Amino acid sequence: MENILITQGRTIDCTQNLDSVMDIFISNGKITKLEPKISNFPENTTIISAKNMIVSPGFIDMHCHLREPGYTKKETIYSATKSAAKGGFTTICAMPNTKPTMDNKSTIELVLEKAKTNGLIRVLPIAAATKKRAGNELTNMHELSKLGVIGFSDDGDPIESPNMMRQALSYSLSTNLPIINHCEVKELSSNGVMNEGFTSMLLGLTGIPNSSEDSMVARDISLAETTGGKLHIAHASTSGTMELIKLAKDKGLNVTCEVTPHHLTLTDKFIFNKSNKAKDTDILSSNPYDTNIKVAPPLRSQKDVDSLIQGLLNDTIDVIATDHAPHTNSDKNCTFEEAANGISNLETALSSVLSLYHQKSIPITKIIEKLTSSPAKLINRPDLGSLKLNTNADITIFDPNLEWIVNSNKFASKGKNTPLDGEKVKGKVIKTIFKGKIIE
Ligand SMILES: [Zn+2]
Repeated sequence: MENILITQGRTIDCTQNLDSVMDIFISNGKITKLEPKISNFPENTTIISAKNMIVSPGFIDMHCHLREPGYTKKETIYSATKSAAKGGFTTICAMPNTKPTMDNKSTIELVLEKAKTNGLIRVLPIAAATKKRAGNELTNMHELSKLGVIGFSDDGDPIESPNMMRQALSYSLSTNLPIINHCEVKELSSNGVMNEGFTSMLLGLTGIPNSSEDSMVARDISLAETTGGKLHIAHASTSGTMELIKLAKDKGLNVTCEVTPHHLTLTDKFIFNKSNKAKDTDILSSNPYDTNIKVAPPLRSQKDVDSLIQGLLNDTIDVIATDHAPHTNSDKNCTFEEAANGISNLETALSSVLSLYHQKSIPITKIIEKLTSSPAKLINRPDLGSLKLNTNADITIFDPNLEWIVNSNKFASKGKNTPLDGEKVKGKVIKTIFKGKIIE
């Protein structure tokens, strides 16, 4: 294995309270030296200059849709891990809404096997909470927890039955793994396609109220309190969710949550960005609005975005997770009502959240914490998300100031569905190193 020397990058590692210019030496896949200046190193060493760049532990994404098995037209484990590496991620967690569902031992073993043979980085599976994600019967959580899954979720859909959720949370006490819920009361969101508000009214599109998320978050927190179980709220999108989680945390409940780059940075008004650029003839066609902004939960209002930013700053939010949801062109090239939910996110996640750093809304160290040490803690992997000596050399080097124009045709992901296509963004991953090997 090659030796690598990373020189003079601004090195940030929240597990060591480190933020200074350092050299890092990597040998046999491990970090073996971390010093202000390393002058003694073997001849056969690859040198990477990280001057004016940031060197961070490899990013960890605890919420991704890899689509394999079953939907390999949308994405494969290979294409997802390549896309993740391009985005600076060295560990990604795979949601179970595959075909077959990741609700049993053999399917999870298949994903682990494929990740080992085809994957370029670490893939950790999330098992379904209920069989076929149908919400009627719990999966065999004890058996599945032994396979190395990091949690249980029916993501894509909520765990609708309060009793099923209560049982799942009770099991989390013995597996010590979180129940990750996609909080959405379907009776409230039913035919909605975007955030309920002024914009939906203006466009005549059916809205999804904040209460469809808030009311289930409130229910789940109550059940977490009753059971003492471990609850993780996926993709928080509302100011109400922020208030509820803050209360739960103040009470000392076992509740955590994540936010996506798009909910942190975009509002429902982004639907106009693309239609404003469109020609009149496009507007007159059947698809005037950019279906790439259609996502579940929907992009919300500025008030919600502001409270999410506050939540990240005051640690109400534990991690940034992408909810990478790749789709084929035909899944999105249709009417707004028919379009699939989701954004292909891995390759733009960093630049999205860095926009908040450039606006001086969030310090860079906070962003890195939420992408590295914090998710490592949440998935019970203290060996990850750190640059400590003798840990696996999972490292991301990025230029926070490099400007580039998003071109989804160049994505490694099969999913080209991003509302940021054609947008000028700032901040780019330069190198991703996984277990001491340069992947991108
Ligand atoms: Zn979801």
